[in-house]
Amino acid sequence: MREQIITLEKLQNIDSQLREIEKDLDKYPKEISAFNDELEKRKDIINGKKENLKEIEDSKTKLEQQLKDNQSVIKKAEERLFEIKTHKEYEALQKEITETKRSNSEIEDQILNLMEESEKLGSDLKDKEEKFSKINDEYSEKISEYEMIIEDLENSHKPIKEEKNKISGLVDPEVLPVYEKAAKRNGEALALAENESCTTCHIHLPPQLYNELLTQKRIILCPSCKRILYTAQEQESE
Ligand SMILES: [Zn+2]
Repeated sequence: MREQIITLEKLQNIDSQLREIEKDLDKYPKEISAFNDELEKRKDIINGKKENLKEIEDSKTKLEQQLKDNQSVIKKAEERLFEIKTHKEYEALQKEITETKRSNSEIEDQILNLMEESEKLGSDLKDKEEKFSKINDEYSEKISEYEMIIEDLENSHKPIKEEKNKISGLVDPEVLPVYEKAAKRNGEALALAENESCTTCHIHLPPQLYNELLTQKRIILCPSCKRILYTAQEQESE
């Protein structure tokens, strides 16, 4: 049974290596996704702002055209004033000129507001783009670093898995499922027993059980944490 325990210790060591690798193989791709998600989110915000800026510029262009059209309306009307015969017609034209001028003054205010808005948005956009470029560099570096780590992990996973299969083959077929069950429950399937207690969960072991354990005749589980108990004493006598 002592040999079995030594084999199980090897198996446990390999399982713990595999667990670490698998944990990292889960962790690093998630971190890469998180980096990509954040970059996407920032890109979306920038694109939204670019669209806003374009809408503002379009509105401004339209208003400027309207301003020009009105100016030519005013110019023509002012020229016509000299050709007018009746007072009524003169008044109507004068009224048109006044109203168009008032409308233009409103348009000019709107254009000024749009220019202010566009300037604010433009500088905000510039900040965001600069920040994005910095973060993009930083994250891209991290992503390629993590991709290399993942590649290394995948490369080391296979031979360790093969080693595990080899060592599993050396474990008594009746003991292996006991080990697997304890490993699944606790991670570490083995627990050292010392001074009549389990050093993992610290319970006191019944003397009879402890004595039986010292003989190493069969696999004994800790009554509390259900790990496979082993003793160091036997090892010394070997
Ligand atoms: Zn225990």
